Amino acid sequence: MGKEIFADLKKNGFLKGKNTDYKWYTKSPLQGFARCDKCNHILACRSTKYKTKSGIKQSRYFFCRTCKCNGEDDNASKATLLEEVVFAEIKARFDIDKVKSEPKVNTKNLAKNIEKLRNKKMNSFEKYKLGKISRDKFKGIKTAIDEDIVRLEEKIKLDKVVPDKKLDDTLTRDMMEKYVESVICHKGEVVKIIWK
Ligand SMILES: [Zn+2]
Repeated sequence: MGKEIFADLKKNGFLKGKNTDYKWYTKSPLQGFARCDKCNHILACRSTKYKTKSGIKQSRYFFCRTCKCNGEDDNASKATLLEEVVFAEIKARFDIDKVKSEPKVNTKNLAKNIEKLRNKKMNSFEKYKLGKISRDKFKGIKTAIDEDIVRLEEKIKLDKVVPDKKLDDTLTRDMMEKYVESVICHKGEVVKIIWK
């Protein structure tokens, strides 16, 4: 690129440096983590569309640009193969399933607590009716309990917003960033996972 053109682009705001908002890893959560077992470079991910009898399908694969440029085997791997292995390894190592099932138990406990609070409210109402506590005291207890119940009900609602199982059942970028440093690959196989 000529110097003048470069300056012109810069002046007009076309070259503003690295745009960090740009998501370059949309093809696979492994992008940036998958490495070539021969040269240790980050593998590139490419998606291609191809025709089949049942229509157009898409396939994603990783390959090594460096090895390809050097005229060697491009170390290509189907993205789904690598993703499945890495996801299984993460699940086996970090017990993600167990962590995920916890909110359900919480919801159950919360419902039980709400039930207990309702009983407590009934009891103080009985006491008030029998003249054992004053009207003010009863009102105070009732308000406090009602507030607690609302708080618990909100919690239950929030628990239900937890992403559905299907979404959780695939490898995500978040998991990769949390647990994995890099994944060494060789032609559709995961040679080694380097953990964080
Ligand atoms: Zn390579």
